[in-house]
Amino acid sequence: MTGTIDPALQHVYDAVLRRNPGESEFHQAVEEVLASLGPVVRRHPHYLAERVIERICEPERQIIFRVPWTDDAGQVQINRGFRVQYSSVLGPYKGGMRFHPSVLLGTVKFLGFEQIFKNALTGMPIGGGKGGADFDPKGRSDGEVMRFCQSLMTELFRHLGEYTDVPAGDIGVGAREIGYLFGQYKKMTNRYEAGVLTGKGLAWGGSRARTEATGYGTVYFADQMAQHAGQRLDGTRVVVSGSGNVAIYAMEKVAELGGLVVACSDSSGYVVDEAGIDLELVKEVKEERRERIRAYADRRPGARFVSQGTIWDVPAEVALPCATQNELDEAAAGTLVTNGVEIVAEGANMPCTPGAVRVFQEAGVLFGPGKAANAGGVATSALEMQQNASRDSWSFEHTDARLGEIMRNIHERVVTTAEDYGRPGDYVFGANASGFTQVADAMLALGVI
Ligand code: GLU
Repeated sequence: MTGTIDPALQHVYDAVLRRNPGESEFHQAVEEVLASLGPVVRRHPHYLAERVIERICEPERQIIFRVPWTDDAGQVQINRGFRVQYSSVLGPYKGGMRFHPSVLLGTVKFLGFEQIFKNALTGMPIGGGKGGADFDPKGRSDGEVMRFCQSLMTELFRHLGEYTDVPAGDIGVGAREIGYLFGQYKKMTNRYEAGVLTGKGLAWGGSRARTEATGYGTVYFADQMAQHAGQRLDGTRVVVSGSGNVAIYAMEKVAELGGLVVACSDSSGYVVDEAGIDLELVKEVKEERRERIRAYADRRPGARFVSQGTIWDVPAEVALPCATQNELDEAAAGTLVTNGVEIVAEGANMPCTPGAVRVFQEAGVLFGPGKAANAGGVATSALEMQQNASRDSWSFEHTDARLGEIMRNIHERVVTTAEDYGRPGDYVFGANASGFTQVADAMLALGVI
């Protein structure tokens, strides 16, 4: 079971705490990986001697910049932009941009750190990076979002390139924002360098199935977990938190595989719909009209909106947290366990607190961590880069089949690594040990860099 940091690695964690004060999410992400690495460094002591882990904990480059822009009222606004170029040993830095008022350097570092190992697990040639800004897109007009994106890219473009750093979307960044960012990059560089950003629209270099990939991939992974344990998703009751890009396509795939999604949420509360969540209505409310989730219950007979408590109070056999970090705590995990949850797979990045993960593992619930379960998004970004590099465009069926195969491979790799270390069923350990080993070996081969 995932536990505490091995004494041989405590000094690494202490240094991270000392050198990155106040960055609690980053500390949490590092602690979670370090807690898995004790058996790995006992088997491979040279990782310690060569100080590989300390090197990985230090980003290769961190860029922080001012993003000034003018709102519709003619008022000057100032935001802060970030790009943390974490690790390029496996390929160009790769990872999304997050636009949310809560974004701080520590947020981007936690996401970038996770991304290194997630990207390694995909088996694709991509390094790890992440970026974002403390910009709040809520209530902003298209014109304001465009001017913000243009200003951000006016600084960021010099740090990017299809062989250097390839951003994509994350919370608050979808096809609209990627379009504005790509347009400005193209203008600044005078190059139609499609492979510099992923998550593009289909008409201008995007990949089919990229929009669906994170949600679909999470469900493919959960399905693998179920099959491995001799179970099925078919006929199960499922709760999916969130109602953004990841949640919507997770719900779609669950329904396709015969599961019943009974609840979803946004930051204002959650809706319960015992007849099964109507996806077209969620898309209309959240994507077209950009309304709060309450509007779903207002328009759907039999559904109810709940603003108190948490979505995890709703009984389910499968729980897919697809909203944001630390959305599912120890108390919520306890409620899910009491209500008979059997499988939890993270569609978001680090949505379960360490206490929640402990509760699941102690109760024997199958728990799939985000760096394995939600890797389908970035993996399909790598497929988009492949299509851009070969100036090709694949069918939905072909791309989705590749995604399915990648998720099966990740599952296999995680399970095999966990078994190899005598920890069968420990997906957290398997993901961390396997992702880390690949990055560490590549790093050592490249010398002290
Ligand atoms: N933001 C997504 C993630 O957390 C996707 C990154 C990408 O496609 O580069 O993995």
